[in-house]
Parts: sequence; structure tokens; C-alpha cells
Amino acid sequence: DELISQIAAGEVVERPASVVRELVDNALDAGASQITVRLSAGGVRLITVEDDGGGIPQDELPVALRRHATSKITNLTDLETVATMGFRGEALAAVASVSEMSLLSRPASQTTAFLLDARSGELRPAARATGTTVEVKELFFSTPARRKFLKTDATELAHCIESVRRHALARPDVGFAIWHEGKLVEQWRATFVPGQGDAQDALARRLSDVLGEDFVTESVPVHHRAGPVTVTGRAGLPDAARSRADHQYCYVNGRFVRDKVLTHAARSAYEDVLHGHKQPVYALYVEIDPARVDVNVHPTKIEVRFRDSREVHQAVRHAVENALAAPRA
Ligand code: ADP
Ligand code: MG
Repeated sequence: DELISQIAAGEVVERPASVVRELVDNALDAGASQITVRLSAGGVRLITVEDDGGGIPQDELPVALRRHATSKITNLTDLETVATMGFRGEALAAVASVSEMSLLSRPASQTTAFLLDARSGELRPAARATGTTVEVKELFFSTPARRKFLKTDATELAHCIESVRRHALARPDVGFAIWHEGKLVEQWRATFVPGQGDAQDALARRLSDVLGEDFVTESVPVHHRAGPVTVTGRAGLPDAARSRADHQYCYVNGRFVRDKVLTHAARSAYEDVLHGHKQPVYALYVEIDPARVDVNVHPTKIEVRFRDSREVHQAVRHAVENALAAPRA
């Protein structure tokens, strides 16, 4: 069983940034409004993710570590309309099998927190405000072959930051902080309170905080609706690409994805309107009826499959074309 977990871990956990991605996903699913990531040695020695979300009840702590244990879906129909980031119940089990992990959590209904040590199974009371802290130490300590594939601490740190950045660009309503070796390296405050203020303004402020002020001044808003597909976000003008050529962010129903249909559609739009602008910078948010997209294609959920990819391609292409071609003030 340990071996099976470690093999499964290979699909989900490639490097510290994969752990960060999964733990931040969980914090968001728990309804956190503030998420703090602390790293040591690029996350190889230590990753902790603290949230102020709903917490895990004492008796569910051991269950959370079990393979295919998820509290998020209960049947296959749920899978078609899954609204949470997680649903496979694999991440914690996978990470626990290749690290020294502990869970410290307190739901609002409990007067005390409990700490579960994954390796020993020991469960004891501890102090904590409502929410959860997951600690992951010595990643891949028992699988040296995999540990050897890790790059320098600086590179692993950069990947961890990128992982949080992807979440942050989708959730301006949540505050994020990243610490490395006890120093604050990134902090993005919440720019939006749901139900108050304008969501587009909040997104622009978050984009400015995360990608830089120049990205927002040198980009145009995207807003386009075609049948069941809505595309919003911002498309960078040629000048925006100078500093951030690698920043192409696509989201489908709030989930960061790498998808050829989306990137091809965006690239085509840039070619049409700006005649071959090589490395466009953009953040595009596709909202689509969940029944028209399969998110359970890849263990890391970074890939999706559209039921009708032409429909999505056209919507994104038109969205970006319209934005780039619109007269600017
Ligand atoms: P999944 O997210 O796919 O359900 P995970 O292995 O990532 O699976 O997590 C297992 C379970 O542990 C979750 O379904 C959830 O109930 C619980 N859990 C994990 N992290 C947190 C957290 N930060 N706050 C509250 N519950 C959590
Ligand atoms: Mg999860």
C-alpha cells in the first residue's frame, strides 16, 4: 500500500511546487480568506501552508490522509459539475507517502485544535485558531532517485511562487503571503470582498499586484460571451511582453489550465490583429457550463477536455480579437 501510494505520488507530486499547488487548492476549497505559505530550501526541506478556512474535525483528520478519501464529492454525478479544486482525494495521501507530514487543524465547532503526525499516526491536542496548517518536511527523503531530479533551491522556490501566483490570479478575494527562510518574499492582499465593489476592478488590482503595474496599463480588457462560453480577463499589448514573455495564464471555471485549444486561439487572435506578435502576455478566464468540460483528465487537473473544442476556440479567439481591435482611449 505504501508502494502504491508512492507510485501514485509520482503522478501528483513532482516537486515542491506540486505540493504547494495541492495544499493551496485545499485551503481554497476550505473557504480560506488568507493563505500563508512558508518555505525552506525552496520547499524541499519544509513547506507549510496555513489557512483560516473551515478546518478538519478531529475524527476526520486520519481519514483525510487516506487514499481516495475526499469530502468533496459523493457520487459520479457530482464529478460532472465539480466546483471544488480537489475531488480525487489523492493529494494528502500522495504527499504523506513521500515526506514527513503533519496536519494541524481546528474547525470553528471545536474549542481546541488537533495535530496529526502522518508517519506515527499520533493525534494530540494543540493550539490554533480556526483553520488548518499542513506541514511537509523533507520531500522525497525516502525516494532519493526522485529527490535527485530537483533543481537548485532558487529554481524550486521560483516554481513554488509561480504555483501560488496561478492561484492568486484566480482569487482576488483571497490574500496570499509567501515566506522563504523566514523572509516575506511575496504578499498579495485581497482586493475584493464578495458582494462589495466591482469584480473587474478587483481583478485588475490583483493583476497589477501579481504581474506588475505595467501589465495592467499595457493591456486591454477582454469581455466576450458566445453561447455557453464567457471569456474575460486582460490581453497584453506588445509592450507588456517585454518583461514578462512567459506569462500566459488561462483559467477554466476558476482552475488554472494548460490547454492547446486556448493558447492556439489566443495566438491566432494576436496574429490576426497584431500580425504575428510572438509572445503575448495575457490572463484569460473562461467560464463554461461544467457539463461541457471534463476536468478529470489528468491527476494534477492541469489539463481539461472540452466537449466541443471548436466552440471554445472560437469564443476565445473572438474575445481576444475584439479586445485587441477595440479603439483605445
Ligand atoms: P481532495 O482535495 O481531492 O478532496 P486531498 O487529499 O487534497 O483530496 O484532501 C483530502 C481531504 O482532506 C479533503 O477532501 C478535505 O476534506 C480535507 N482537507 C485537506 N486540506 C484541508 C484544509 N486545508 N482545510 C480543510 N480540509 C482539508
Ligand atoms: Mg485536494
